[in-house]
Amino acid sequence: MNQVDYLRISLIDRCNFRCQYCMPEGSELNYILRQELLTFDELLILLKEVFIPVGFSKFRLTGGEPLLRPGVVDLVREIASMPETEDLAMSTNAFLLADMAQDLYDAGLRRINISLDSLHPETFDKIIGNRGRTRWQQTWEGIQAAYRVGFAPLKLNVVVIPGINEGEVLDLAALTLDRHWHVRFIEFMPIGNAQLFSDRAWVPSEELRQHIRSKWGLIESKVKGNGPADVFQIPGAKGTLGFISQMSECFCDRCNRMRLSADGWLRPCLLNESERIDLKTPLRQGVDTQQLQDKVRRLLSLKPEINFQQRYSGTNEGVYTRTMSQIGG
Ligand code: SAM
Repeated sequence: MNQVDYLRISLIDRCNFRCQYCMPEGSELNYILRQELLTFDELLILLKEVFIPVGFSKFRLTGGEPLLRPGVVDLVREIASMPETEDLAMSTNAFLLADMAQDLYDAGLRRINISLDSLHPETFDKIIGNRGRTRWQQTWEGIQAAYRVGFAPLKLNVVVIPGINEGEVLDLAALTLDRHWHVRFIEFMPIGNAQLFSDRAWVPSEELRQHIRSKWGLIESKVKGNGPADVFQIPGAKGTLGFISQMSECFCDRCNRMRLSADGWLRPCLLNESERIDLKTPLRQGVDTQQLQDKVRRLLSLKPEINFQQRYSGTNEGVYTRTMSQIGG
């Protein structure tokens, strides 16, 4: 297995979008109470005294929607300035990004992934559950602002859902032709909206590649990420196309990450819910951070076994108890 040195940190489980595949309107989510969120001081203690000493050096801020967490720019500055930080990135829906992009960049953030499931305002609004007002334009402006400010690589994440945005794959791929953007197609997972998943299912990445290949051709990209995406390129394009195929392939051997939820639960595998550990409660009880390091080291040693277990292990008959917004997607 890869070295596990990458921590995805959820700052908040709330989101200003209600994406159908993630946290559909009407599904009751039990939001984490404010006092249960790790404070930034607690988070920084965990990073400096637990995660970095056991070998983590790459961090991603996510959620929910991380830009909703007050003080996020200051947190970025703190993490970016730690000498042990080799990489810091953020995943966002970009709705609030236009006004924050420059501040985030100045604070030291360089890499950003933005969810963009459609180029058509009506489809986009339908997917994100717009609650009566269009959010497409402001999101697009957020993406443009990130590009202008200089975030690189700028990645756009697309969850492909049959019958909803599947028909836009070529248009989305075309964004990479003359921009240094990286569009990544993600197979829809049964986390968040089991009903939609069983109605629509998912599209295998290879099917998307065939579609793109027959229009422009497709070559393996020289630029390889260190994550789960298989990276390709339309010949002559400036950007790349990534395919994250967690449903059609097992890439557990490439897994280099763990996830920390906004309320301090550390999860060793996205698709297997077993063996999560609570770090916040012992931290608040004053347990020595050396002991927390031991807990994390133990989890690191168990991770290969947890990863390679059947993917639904630890779920209740295949139903996940937490959405991506709650886990830290
Ligand atoms: N709010 C941020 C954003 O929009 O990117 C970060 C959180 S969001 C939960 C992180 C990623 O999880 C997004 O790219 C989203 O599309 C993906 N995601 C959520 N639910 C998913 C599902 N059921 N299948 C595949 N991807 C999912």
